[in-house]
Amino acid sequence: MELYNTSVRKKVKFTPLKGNRVRLYTCGPTVYDVAHIGNFRAFVFEDFLKRVLTLVGYDVTHIMNITDVDDKTIQRSMDRKIPIAELTETYTQRFFQDLDRLKVIPADGYPRATDHVKDMQEIIQQLLDKEHAYISNDGSIYFAIDSYKEYGQLAQLDLSGQKSSERMADDDYTKENPQDFALWKSWKPEDGDVYWESPWGKGRPGWHIECSAMSMKYLGHHFDIHCGGVDNMFPHHENEIAQSVCATGKPFVNVWLHNEHLLVDGGKMSKSLGNFYTVEDLLNHGFTSEALRYILLSTHYRTKVNFSLEKKHEAIKAVQRVQSFWDRLNEFEVSDGEMLPDESEAFINSLSNDLDAPGALGIAFDYIRKMNNRIDQKEITQAEITMAINFMKQINHAFDFLSLNIEVPSEVTNLAQLREDARKAKDWTKSDALRDQLKELGWEVRDTPSGPKCHLIDL
Ligand code: AMP
Ligand code: ZN
Repeated sequence: MELYNTSVRKKVKFTPLKGNRVRLYTCGPTVYDVAHIGNFRAFVFEDFLKRVLTLVGYDVTHIMNITDVDDKTIQRSMDRKIPIAELTETYTQRFFQDLDRLKVIPADGYPRATDHVKDMQEIIQQLLDKEHAYISNDGSIYFAIDSYKEYGQLAQLDLSGQKSSERMADDDYTKENPQDFALWKSWKPEDGDVYWESPWGKGRPGWHIECSAMSMKYLGHHFDIHCGGVDNMFPHHENEIAQSVCATGKPFVNVWLHNEHLLVDGGKMSKSLGNFYTVEDLLNHGFTSEALRYILLSTHYRTKVNFSLEKKHEAIKAVQRVQSFWDRLNEFEVSDGEMLPDESEAFINSLSNDLDAPGALGIAFDYIRKMNNRIDQKEITQAEITMAINFMKQINHAFDFLSLNIEVPSEVTNLAQLREDARKAKDWTKSDALRDQLKELGWEVRDTPSGPKCHLIDL
Protein backbone atom coordinates (compact mmCIF):
# COMPACT_ATOMS: atom_id res chain seq x y z
CA MET A 1 0.00 0.00 0.00
CA GLU A 2 1.23 3.52 -0.81
CA LEU A 3 0.23 6.67 1.05
CA TYR A 4 1.11 10.29 0.34
CA ASN A 5 3.19 11.34 3.32
CA THR A 6 3.00 15.11 3.74
CA SER A 7 6.36 15.23 5.51
CA VAL A 8 8.16 14.15 2.32
CA ARG A 9 5.51 15.37 -0.16
CA LYS A 10 5.38 12.07 -2.00
CA LYS A 11 3.77 8.65 -1.97
CA VAL A 12 5.63 6.16 0.18
CA LYS A 13 5.22 2.44 0.71
CA PHE A 14 3.31 1.94 3.92
CA THR A 15 4.37 -0.67 6.49
CA PRO A 16 3.20 -0.56 10.11
CA LEU A 17 5.94 0.09 12.66
CA LYS A 18 4.96 -2.94 14.76
CA GLY A 19 3.53 -6.15 13.32
CA ASN A 20 0.17 -5.96 11.65
CA ARG A 21 -1.31 -3.22 13.83
CA VAL A 22 -1.64 0.33 12.55
CA ARG A 23 -1.74 2.98 15.24
CA LEU A 24 -3.75 5.94 13.98
CA TYR A 25 -4.35 9.35 15.55
CA THR A 26 -6.78 11.83 14.07
CA CYS A 27 -7.36 15.38 15.34
CA GLY A 28 -10.90 15.56 16.65
CA PRO A 29 -13.40 18.38 16.81
CA THR A 30 -13.18 21.56 18.84
CA VAL A 31 -16.51 21.25 20.60
CA TYR A 32 -17.63 24.88 20.82
CA ASP A 33 -20.24 24.52 18.08
CA VAL A 34 -21.84 21.90 15.85
CA ALA A 35 -19.32 20.27 13.49
CA HIS A 36 -20.14 21.09 9.85
CA ILE A 37 -19.96 18.99 6.73
CA GLY A 38 -16.46 20.43 6.03
CA ASN A 39 -15.22 19.00 9.33
CA PHE A 40 -16.94 15.76 8.43
CA ARG A 41 -14.97 15.60 5.23
CA ALA A 42 -11.97 15.08 7.49
CA PHE A 43 -13.72 12.59 9.78
CA VAL A 44 -15.29 10.56 6.96
CA PHE A 45 -11.97 10.48 5.09
CA GLU A 46 -10.29 9.16 8.26
CA ASP A 47 -13.00 6.54 8.60
CA PHE A 48 -12.41 5.58 4.98
CA LEU A 49 -8.67 5.26 5.59
CA LYS A 50 -9.39 2.93 8.51
CA ARG A 51 -11.82 0.89 6.43
CA VAL A 52 -9.28 0.52 3.62
CA LEU A 53 -6.53 -0.48 6.07
CA THR A 54 -8.74 -3.22 7.50
CA LEU A 55 -9.91 -4.26 4.03
CA VAL A 56 -6.32 -4.97 3.00
CA GLY A 57 -5.79 -6.94 6.21
CA TYR A 58 -4.36 -4.64 8.87
CA ASP A 59 -5.66 -4.22 12.41
CA VAL A 60 -6.14 -0.60 13.41
CA THR A 61 -6.09 1.17 16.77
CA HIS A 62 -7.68 4.56 16.27
CA ILE A 63 -7.66 7.44 18.74
CA MET A 64 -9.47 10.72 18.16
CA ASN A 65 -9.27 13.51 20.72
CA ILE A 66 -12.00 15.90 21.74
CA THR A 67 -10.70 19.47 22.10
CA ASP A 68 -12.83 20.63 25.01
CA VAL A 69 -10.64 23.49 26.19
CA ASP A 70 -8.91 26.09 24.01
CA ASP A 71 -9.31 29.77 23.09
CA LYS A 72 -12.54 29.17 21.16
CA THR A 73 -14.35 27.00 23.73
CA ILE A 74 -13.52 29.45 26.54
CA GLN A 75 -14.65 32.45 24.48
CA ARG A 76 -17.95 30.78 23.50
CA SER A 77 -18.77 29.72 27.06
CA MET A 78 -18.14 33.31 28.22
CA ASP A 79 -20.32 34.73 25.41
CA ARG A 80 -23.16 32.37 26.29
CA LYS A 81 -22.62 32.70 30.02
CA ILE A 82 -22.69 28.94 30.55
CA PRO A 83 -20.04 26.71 32.15
CA ILE A 84 -17.51 25.47 29.61
CA ALA A 85 -18.16 21.82 30.56
CA GLU A 86 -21.86 22.23 29.76
CA LEU A 87 -21.08 23.81 26.38
CA THR A 88 -18.54 21.19 25.36
CA GLU A 89 -20.61 18.23 26.55
CA THR A 90 -23.58 19.35 24.43
CA TYR A 91 -21.46 19.57 21.28
CA THR A 92 -19.53 16.39 22.05
CA GLN A 93 -22.77 14.40 22.22
CA ARG A 94 -24.00 16.10 19.06
CA PHE A 95 -20.72 15.16 17.35
CA PHE A 96 -21.13 11.48 18.28
CA GLN A 97 -24.69 11.55 17.00
CA ASP A 98 -23.55 12.99 13.65
CA LEU A 99 -20.73 10.45 13.34
CA ASP A 100 -23.33 7.74 13.76
CA ARG A 101 -25.62 9.34 11.17
CA LEU A 102 -22.72 9.30 8.71
CA LYS A 103 -22.01 5.64 9.50
CA VAL A 104 -18.53 6.38 10.76
CA ILE A 105 -17.02 3.41 12.61
CA PRO A 106 -16.26 4.61 16.16
CA ALA A 107 -12.65 5.15 17.19
CA ASP A 108 -11.17 2.98 19.93
CA GLY A 109 -11.01 5.99 22.20
CA TYR A 110 -12.14 9.62 22.29
CA PRO A 111 -9.93 11.16 25.01
CA ARG A 112 -10.95 14.61 26.16
CA ALA A 113 -8.28 17.26 26.64
CA THR A 114 -9.59 18.29 30.07
CA ASP A 115 -8.98 14.74 31.37
CA HIS A 116 -5.31 14.87 30.34
CA VAL A 117 -3.94 18.13 31.70
CA LYS A 118 -1.52 16.23 34.00
CA ASP A 119 -0.06 14.41 30.97
CA MET A 120 0.39 17.77 29.23
CA GLN A 121 2.10 19.26 32.29
CA GLU A 122 4.56 16.36 32.32
CA ILE A 123 5.56 17.02 28.72
CA ILE A 124 5.88 20.74 29.43
CA GLN A 125 8.17 19.97 32.39
CA GLN A 126 10.35 17.78 30.16
CA LEU A 127 10.57 20.60 27.62
CA LEU A 128 11.56 23.07 30.35
CA ASP A 129 14.17 20.63 31.70
CA LYS A 130 15.66 20.24 28.24
CA GLU A 131 15.56 24.00 27.61
CA HIS A 132 13.22 23.76 24.65
CA ALA A 133 10.76 25.90 26.61
CA TYR A 134 10.92 28.97 28.81
CA ILE A 135 8.67 30.80 31.25
CA SER A 136 7.69 34.31 30.18
CA ASN A 137 7.12 37.28 32.50
CA ASP A 138 3.41 36.58 32.91
CA GLY A 139 4.01 32.95 33.92
CA SER A 140 3.01 31.46 30.56
CA ILE A 141 5.33 28.88 29.03
CA TYR A 142 6.49 29.03 25.42
CA PHE A 143 8.22 26.59 23.13
CA ALA A 144 11.42 28.12 21.72
CA ILE A 145 11.25 27.27 18.04
CA ASP A 146 14.92 28.08 17.45
CA SER A 147 15.85 25.33 19.94
CA TYR A 148 14.65 22.71 17.45
CA LYS A 149 16.51 22.83 14.18
CA GLU A 150 13.94 20.77 12.29
CA TYR A 151 11.18 23.27 13.10
CA GLY A 152 9.21 24.14 9.99
CA GLN A 153 10.01 20.96 8.08
CA LEU A 154 6.43 19.67 7.82
CA ALA A 155 5.02 22.97 6.56
CA GLN A 156 8.21 23.61 4.56
CA LEU A 157 8.93 26.98 6.14
CA ASP A 158 12.11 28.80 5.36
CA LEU A 159 13.29 30.15 8.70
CA SER A 160 16.82 31.02 7.61
CA GLY A 161 16.09 34.77 7.68
CA GLN A 162 14.49 34.57 11.10
CA LYS A 163 16.72 35.99 13.84
CA SER A 164 14.97 35.93 17.17
CA SER A 165 11.45 34.72 17.63
CA GLU A 166 8.45 36.73 18.61
CA ARG A 167 5.89 35.09 20.85
CA MET A 168 2.40 34.00 19.88
CA ALA A 169 -0.16 33.49 22.62
CA ASP A 170 -3.09 32.52 20.35
CA ASP A 171 -3.68 28.88 19.46
CA ASP A 172 -3.98 29.57 15.75
CA TYR A 173 -1.88 31.77 13.44
CA THR A 174 -0.58 31.69 9.90
CA LYS A 175 2.40 30.23 8.16
CA GLU A 176 3.68 33.71 7.36
CA ASN A 177 4.13 34.27 11.05
CA PRO A 178 6.06 31.41 12.69
CA GLN A 179 6.71 32.26 16.32
CA ASP A 180 7.37 30.76 19.73
CA PHE A 181 4.05 29.27 20.73
CA ALA A 182 2.28 28.80 24.06
CA LEU A 183 2.48 25.43 25.82
CA TRP A 184 0.90 26.73 29.01
CA LYS A 185 -1.15 29.91 29.32
CA SER A 186 -1.16 31.54 32.73
CA TRP A 187 -4.60 32.43 34.07
CA LYS A 188 -6.15 35.72 32.95
CA PRO A 189 -9.45 37.21 34.13
CA GLU A 190 -11.00 36.41 30.69
CA ASP A 191 -10.50 32.71 31.50
CA GLY A 192 -12.96 32.88 34.40
CA ASP A 193 -12.99 29.60 36.30
CA VAL A 194 -11.21 27.69 33.54
CA TYR A 195 -7.81 26.89 35.03
CA TRP A 196 -5.71 24.09 36.50
CA GLU A 197 -3.11 24.28 39.22
CA SER A 198 0.43 23.64 38.04
CA PRO A 199 4.01 24.01 39.29
CA TRP A 200 3.96 27.32 37.38
CA GLY A 201 0.76 28.67 38.91
CA LYS A 202 -2.84 28.65 37.72
CA GLY A 203 -3.31 28.26 34.00
CA ARG A 204 -4.42 26.10 31.10
CA PRO A 205 -2.73 24.20 28.28
CA GLY A 206 -2.23 25.54 24.75
CA TRP A 207 -4.11 23.67 22.01
CA HIS A 208 -1.10 21.99 20.37
CA ILE A 209 0.19 20.25 23.51
CA GLU A 210 -3.19 18.56 23.88
CA CYS A 211 -2.71 16.38 20.81
CA SER A 212 0.94 15.55 21.64
CA ALA A 213 -0.11 14.34 25.09
CA MET A 214 -3.15 12.32 24.05
CA SER A 215 -1.64 10.73 20.95
CA MET A 216 1.52 9.57 22.74
CA LYS A 217 -0.37 8.43 25.83
CA TYR A 218 -2.58 6.04 23.90
CA LEU A 219 -0.43 5.12 20.91
CA GLY A 220 3.14 5.35 22.18
CA HIS A 221 5.89 7.89 21.36
CA HIS A 222 6.24 6.72 17.80
CA PHE A 223 3.12 5.65 15.96
CA ASP A 224 2.07 5.03 12.36
CA ILE A 225 -0.33 7.62 10.99
CA HIS A 226 -1.56 11.06 12.05
CA CYS A 227 -4.35 12.75 10.09
CA GLY A 228 -6.08 16.11 9.94
CA GLY A 229 -7.30 18.66 7.44
CA VAL A 230 -4.67 20.73 5.56
CA ASP A 231 -5.42 23.72 7.78
CA ASN A 232 -4.05 21.70 10.71
CA MET A 233 -0.64 21.24 9.09
CA PHE A 234 0.58 24.62 10.31
CA PRO A 235 0.83 25.56 13.09
CA HIS A 236 -0.92 22.66 14.84
CA HIS A 237 0.91 19.62 13.49
CA GLU A 238 4.23 21.43 13.10
CA ASN A 239 4.02 22.32 16.80
CA GLU A 240 2.94 18.81 17.80
CA ILE A 241 6.08 17.44 16.14
CA ALA A 242 8.35 19.98 17.83
CA GLN A 243 6.89 19.32 21.30
CA SER A 244 6.83 15.54 21.01
CA VAL A 245 10.26 15.01 19.44
CA CYS A 246 11.96 17.45 21.81
CA ALA A 247 10.30 15.96 24.90
CA THR A 248 10.98 12.30 24.11
CA GLY A 249 14.10 12.55 21.93
CA LYS A 250 12.41 10.00 19.65
CA PRO A 251 10.65 10.16 16.30
CA PHE A 252 6.93 10.95 16.60
CA VAL A 253 4.75 10.12 13.59
CA ASN A 254 5.67 7.87 10.69
CA VAL A 255 3.18 9.11 8.07
CA TRP A 256 1.26 12.40 8.02
CA LEU A 257 -1.92 12.46 5.93
CA HIS A 258 -3.84 15.67 5.25
CA ASN A 259 -7.21 15.93 3.57
CA GLU A 260 -8.06 18.92 1.39
CA HIS A 261 -10.90 21.24 2.21
CA LEU A 262 -14.53 21.14 1.41
CA LEU A 263 -15.47 24.49 -0.11
CA VAL A 264 -18.70 26.44 -0.50
CA ASP A 265 -18.81 28.90 -3.39
CA GLY A 266 -15.06 28.52 -3.81
CA GLY A 267 -14.19 29.34 -0.16
CA LYS A 268 -13.41 27.07 2.80
CA MET A 269 -16.49 26.04 4.73
CA SER A 270 -15.80 27.18 8.26
CA LYS A 271 -17.53 27.90 11.52
CA SER A 272 -15.97 31.34 11.81
CA LEU A 273 -17.26 32.40 8.35
CA GLY A 274 -20.73 31.08 9.13
CA ASN A 275 -21.05 29.55 5.62
CA PHE A 276 -21.69 26.04 6.80
CA TYR A 277 -24.17 23.19 6.64
CA THR A 278 -24.49 20.67 9.43
CA VAL A 279 -25.28 17.00 8.89
CA GLU A 280 -28.76 17.67 10.27
CA ASP A 281 -29.33 20.57 7.82
CA LEU A 282 -28.51 18.29 4.93
CA LEU A 283 -30.61 15.35 6.12
CA ASN A 284 -33.48 17.85 6.39
CA HIS A 285 -32.76 18.88 2.79
CA GLY A 286 -33.36 15.26 1.71
CA PHE A 287 -29.78 13.99 1.54
CA THR A 288 -29.37 10.47 2.89
CA SER A 289 -26.42 9.34 5.01
CA GLU A 290 -25.20 7.30 2.05
CA ALA A 291 -25.52 10.22 -0.37
CA LEU A 292 -23.46 12.38 2.00
CA ARG A 293 -20.82 9.66 2.23
CA TYR A 294 -20.78 9.55 -1.59
CA ILE A 295 -20.23 13.31 -1.85
CA LEU A 296 -17.47 13.23 0.75
CA LEU A 297 -15.69 10.16 -0.62
CA SER A 298 -16.07 10.27 -4.40
CA THR A 299 -13.42 12.97 -4.80
CA HIS A 300 -9.82 12.08 -3.93
CA TYR A 301 -8.98 13.22 -0.41
CA ARG A 302 -6.17 15.48 -1.63
CA THR A 303 -8.46 17.36 -4.05
CA LYS A 304 -10.78 20.18 -2.99
CA VAL A 305 -14.53 19.47 -3.13
CA ASN A 306 -16.98 22.22 -3.91
CA PHE A 307 -20.15 21.53 -1.99
CA SER A 308 -23.59 22.61 -3.15
CA LEU A 309 -27.13 21.44 -2.56
CA GLU A 310 -27.37 20.65 -6.29
CA LYS A 311 -25.12 17.64 -5.68
CA LYS A 312 -27.98 15.84 -4.00
CA HIS A 313 -29.58 14.36 -7.11
CA GLU A 314 -26.39 12.87 -8.55
CA ALA A 315 -25.29 11.49 -5.17
CA ILE A 316 -28.63 9.85 -4.45
CA LYS A 317 -28.67 8.34 -7.95
CA ALA A 318 -25.17 6.92 -7.50
CA VAL A 319 -25.86 5.21 -4.20
CA GLN A 320 -29.21 3.94 -5.48
CA ARG A 321 -27.39 2.25 -8.35
CA VAL A 322 -25.31 0.33 -5.79
CA GLN A 323 -28.38 -0.43 -3.67
CA SER A 324 -30.57 -1.71 -6.47
CA PHE A 325 -27.81 -3.94 -7.82
CA TRP A 326 -27.39 -5.39 -4.31
CA ASP A 327 -31.15 -5.93 -3.95
CA ARG A 328 -31.25 -7.56 -7.38
CA LEU A 329 -28.43 -9.95 -6.49
CA ASN A 330 -30.23 -10.96 -3.33
CA GLU A 331 -33.28 -12.06 -5.29
CA PHE A 332 -31.18 -14.97 -6.53
CA GLU A 333 -30.37 -18.04 -4.54
CA VAL A 334 -27.02 -17.14 -3.00
CA SER A 335 -24.47 -19.89 -2.38
CA ASP A 336 -21.44 -19.82 -0.11
CA GLY A 337 -17.93 -19.35 -1.41
CA GLU A 338 -15.10 -16.87 -1.28
CA MET A 339 -14.58 -16.35 -5.00
CA LEU A 340 -14.09 -12.81 -6.23
CA PRO A 341 -14.20 -11.32 -9.74
CA ASP A 342 -11.01 -9.90 -11.35
CA GLU A 343 -12.38 -6.40 -10.75
CA SER A 344 -11.89 -6.92 -7.01
CA GLU A 345 -8.11 -6.94 -7.38
CA ALA A 346 -8.18 -3.77 -9.47
CA PHE A 347 -10.50 -2.17 -6.90
CA ILE A 348 -8.14 -3.01 -4.01
CA ASN A 349 -5.16 -1.86 -6.06
CA SER A 350 -6.80 1.53 -6.61
CA LEU A 351 -7.51 1.92 -2.92
CA SER A 352 -3.97 0.84 -2.08
CA ASN A 353 -2.71 3.59 -4.36
CA ASP A 354 -3.01 6.42 -1.85
CA LEU A 355 -6.74 5.74 -1.40
CA ASP A 356 -7.75 6.43 -4.98
CA ALA A 357 -11.48 6.40 -4.28
CA PRO A 358 -12.52 7.86 -7.68
CA GLY A 359 -10.53 5.12 -9.44
CA ALA A 360 -11.99 2.41 -7.21
CA LEU A 361 -15.54 3.71 -7.69
CA GLY A 362 -15.02 3.82 -11.47
CA ILE A 363 -14.18 0.10 -11.34
CA ALA A 364 -17.14 -0.64 -9.08
CA PHE A 365 -19.67 1.23 -11.25
CA ASP A 366 -18.36 -0.32 -14.50
CA TYR A 367 -18.69 -3.72 -12.90
CA ILE A 368 -22.25 -3.02 -11.71
CA ARG A 369 -23.22 -1.90 -15.23
CA LYS A 370 -21.67 -5.01 -16.76
CA MET A 371 -23.36 -7.39 -14.33
CA ASN A 372 -26.72 -5.64 -14.61
CA ASN A 373 -26.49 -6.31 -18.35
CA ARG A 374 -25.72 -9.95 -17.71
CA ILE A 375 -28.75 -10.20 -15.44
CA ASP A 376 -30.92 -8.42 -18.08
CA GLN A 377 -29.70 -10.87 -20.71
CA LYS A 378 -30.33 -13.78 -18.31
CA GLU A 379 -26.71 -14.81 -18.82
CA ILE A 380 -25.48 -14.49 -15.27
CA THR A 381 -24.21 -17.72 -13.67
CA GLN A 382 -24.42 -18.92 -10.07
CA ALA A 383 -20.66 -18.45 -9.68
CA GLU A 384 -20.94 -14.85 -10.94
CA ILE A 385 -23.67 -14.13 -8.39
CA THR A 386 -21.53 -15.44 -5.54
CA MET A 387 -18.57 -13.39 -6.78
CA ALA A 388 -20.73 -10.29 -7.15
CA ILE A 389 -22.07 -10.62 -3.60
CA ASN A 390 -18.54 -10.98 -2.22
CA PHE A 391 -17.27 -8.03 -4.24
CA MET A 392 -20.19 -5.86 -3.14
CA LYS A 393 -19.32 -6.68 0.47
CA GLN A 394 -15.78 -5.45 -0.17
CA ILE A 395 -17.06 -2.28 -1.80
CA ASN A 396 -19.37 -1.72 1.12
CA HIS A 397 -16.63 -2.40 3.66
CA ALA A 398 -14.77 0.58 2.18
CA PHE A 399 -17.63 2.96 1.28
CA ASP A 400 -20.74 1.86 3.18
CA PHE A 401 -23.17 3.07 0.50
CA LEU A 402 -25.73 0.33 1.14
CA SER A 403 -28.64 0.99 3.39
CA LEU A 404 -29.22 -2.40 4.86
CA ASN A 405 -31.75 -1.71 7.62
CA ILE A 406 -31.21 -5.20 8.88
CA GLU A 407 -33.14 -6.12 11.98
CA VAL A 408 -30.93 -7.34 14.80
CA PRO A 409 -32.19 -10.78 15.91
CA SER A 410 -33.19 -10.96 19.58
CA GLU A 411 -30.63 -13.72 20.18
CA VAL A 412 -27.93 -11.23 19.15
CA THR A 413 -29.24 -8.35 21.27
CA ASN A 414 -29.48 -10.69 24.27
CA LEU A 415 -25.89 -11.84 23.86
CA ALA A 416 -24.77 -8.23 23.37
CA GLN A 417 -26.52 -7.26 26.60
CA LEU A 418 -24.86 -10.13 28.51
CA ARG A 419 -21.51 -9.03 27.12
CA GLU A 420 -22.16 -5.46 28.24
CA ASP A 421 -23.06 -6.70 31.75
CA ALA A 422 -19.86 -8.78 31.85
CA ARG A 423 -17.82 -5.75 30.75
CA LYS A 424 -19.40 -3.60 33.44
CA ALA A 425 -18.49 -6.29 35.98
CA LYS A 426 -14.97 -6.31 34.48
CA ASP A 427 -15.35 -10.02 33.73
CA TRP A 428 -13.17 -9.91 30.61
CA THR A 429 -13.04 -13.68 30.11
CA LYS A 430 -16.82 -13.86 29.96
CA SER A 431 -17.14 -10.77 27.76
CA ASP A 432 -14.54 -12.19 25.32
CA ALA A 433 -16.37 -15.52 25.22
CA LEU A 434 -19.63 -13.73 24.44
CA ARG A 435 -17.90 -11.68 21.73
CA ASP A 436 -16.72 -14.95 20.14
CA GLN A 437 -20.21 -16.37 20.36
CA LEU A 438 -21.58 -13.30 18.56
CA LYS A 439 -18.86 -13.61 15.96
CA GLU A 440 -19.91 -17.16 15.22
CA LEU A 441 -23.39 -15.85 14.51
CA GLY A 442 -21.84 -13.32 12.11
CA TRP A 443 -22.26 -10.27 14.37
CA GLU A 444 -19.95 -7.91 16.15
CA VAL A 445 -20.60 -5.32 18.82
CA ARG A 446 -19.01 -1.91 18.40
CA ASP A 447 -18.68 0.13 21.55
CA THR A 448 -19.86 3.54 20.46
CA PRO A 449 -19.99 6.55 22.76
CA SER A 450 -23.77 6.19 22.84
CA GLY A 451 -23.51 2.55 23.97
CA PRO A 452 -22.81 -0.77 22.26
CA LYS A 453 -24.24 -1.32 18.76
CA CYS A 454 -24.61 -4.59 16.87
CA HIS A 455 -23.28 -4.82 13.30
CA LEU A 456 -23.20 -7.63 10.79
CA ILE A 457 -19.55 -8.54 10.20
CA ASP A 458 -18.36 -7.43 6.74
CA LEU A 459 -21.31 -5.20 6.02
P1 AMP B 1 -11.81 21.77 14.16
O1 AMP B 1 -13.06 21.35 14.88
O2 AMP B 1 -11.87 23.15 13.60
O3 AMP B 1 -10.58 21.57 15.02
O4 AMP B 1 -11.66 20.82 12.88
C1 AMP B 1 -11.79 19.43 12.90
C2 AMP B 1 -11.21 18.84 11.62
O5 AMP B 1 -11.90 19.32 10.46
C3 AMP B 1 -9.73 19.16 11.38
O6 AMP B 1 -9.07 18.02 10.89
C4 AMP B 1 -9.79 20.26 10.33
O7 AMP B 1 -8.59 20.31 9.59
C5 AMP B 1 -10.95 19.78 9.48
N1 AMP B 1 -11.62 20.82 8.69
C6 AMP B 1 -12.06 22.03 9.10
N2 AMP B 1 -12.69 22.71 8.09
C7 AMP B 1 -12.64 21.88 7.00
C8 AMP B 1 -13.13 21.99 5.65
N3 AMP B 1 -13.81 23.04 5.21
N4 AMP B 1 -12.88 20.94 4.81
C9 AMP B 1 -12.22 19.83 5.25
N5 AMP B 1 -11.74 19.66 6.50
C10 AMP B 1 -11.95 20.68 7.38
ZN1 ZN C 1 -4.80 17.86 16.97
